[in-house]
Amino acid sequence: MDPDATTPPLPEPDALTRRFWEACRQGRLDLCACESCGHLFLPPGPCCPRCWAMRITTRTASGEGAVRTFAVYRRTYHPGLPQPYVVAVIELREGPRLVSNVVGCAPERVRIDMPVRARFENVGEFTLPRFEPAGPEKEPS
Ligand SMILES: [Zn+2]
Repeated sequence: MDPDATTPPLPEPDALTRRFWEACRQGRLDLCACESCGHLFLPPGPCCPRCWAMRITTRTASGEGAVRTFAVYRRTYHPGLPQPYVVAVIELREGPRLVSNVVGCAPERVRIDMPVRARFENVGEFTLPRFEPAGPEKEPS
């Protein structure tokens, strides 16, 4: 068997996203912050999507957010992604949204508006930000 067969597809960092993934490796969720208008955004981009300013810095997010929408995958599309698993749009407390997984609870317990917090998991050579319930849905680990 291919030794990498159980590693799920991983990000391919580029010049814009490399810092984001490096922050994840250090246990931080870094947002892009526009130095002109203060807008916070993800994914990293070359300019502010609100005012087009080119001066972008970073701000570390709290890691707290809520599920805005989600889907439960009950089919194995990749051996590194055993089903069932939850793919969700997470809205961070600071505003930006990102697509991630909800972990640490049964998929049946995930609901829209459920409070979640970031949890960093090492997968292959990456540290991925995933989200676990911040409330009573969390299962003891
Ligand atoms: Zn801006």
